[in-house]
Amino acid sequence: MEQWHNEDPLHRYVGHDTAQVKVLNAEQASDGSVNALLQGERFEKQIHTSMPDGSTAAVRQYPILPPTRRDYPDFLKACTACGKCIEVCPEHILRPATTEYEVYDIHDAQGKPTVSFELGYCRPNCHRCADVCEEGLLDLVSEAQKVEHHLGWAQFNSLTCLTQTEHIPCDACLRHCPYKAILPVEKDGFKVPRIHPRLCTGCGACEFYCPARPKAIYVEGR
Ligand code: SF4
Ligand code: SF4
Ligand code: SF4
Repeated sequence: MEQWHNEDPLHRYVGHDTAQVKVLNAEQASDGSVNALLQGERFEKQIHTSMPDGSTAAVRQYPILPPTRRDYPDFLKACTACGKCIEVCPEHILRPATTEYEVYDIHDAQGKPTVSFELGYCRPNCHRCADVCEEGLLDLVSEAQKVEHHLGWAQFNSLTCLTQTEHIPCDACLRHCPYKAILPVEKDGFKVPRIHPRLCTGCGACEFYCPARPKAIYVEGR
């Protein structure tokens, strides 16, 4: 398994449009919506998330851990699946994992927390999950510390971005990024987002506010 989180994210992601680096197969669903399936060696296992209306939200390869500086094996071994962090998250972005961690060949992580952004995003000034974790697995992150704290990194897929598919101007992701990690760049006459991976914390605000389905900007876990 490729461990991309050990690579320099700046090298990998600045200027990259994932539509150009992933093989993407777009299918038209019966309701007219486009269901994009990412395929290829790195994308054999995918995590599909759904909006409350059942439409595809995001398609990611790597699960997102709650705010912690530990990597997945240590965190998942120590987590007792007590569910307290899930209960207190005011944004409802923490949920019990089902099969998400199987991408790491970890098959006993059901009920342990993972992150998804259909209902909100990780607030810059919040550390409620860390406050209630009795195992001390989540970092007590201040607002200033959170700038250095990556849940993952946002990625952009121009094949579902509304500026490209509908030719309408959209800057929802850029406007809502709390860390000013998105810069607009020109693509086919429209501004599209470019993400700065050192500034991006993976908070998920861009993914949450992106009106495209599947989301044209979404967070990959680390
Ligand atoms: S820091 Fe707050 S918003 Fe972010 S996951 Fe924890 S409880 Fe949820
Ligand atoms: S995840 Fe999106 S909104 Fe959050 S810091 Fe990164 S680019 Fe900005
Ligand atoms: S919010 Fe989504 S659709 Fe709008 S510009 Fe950003 S990626 Fe494209």
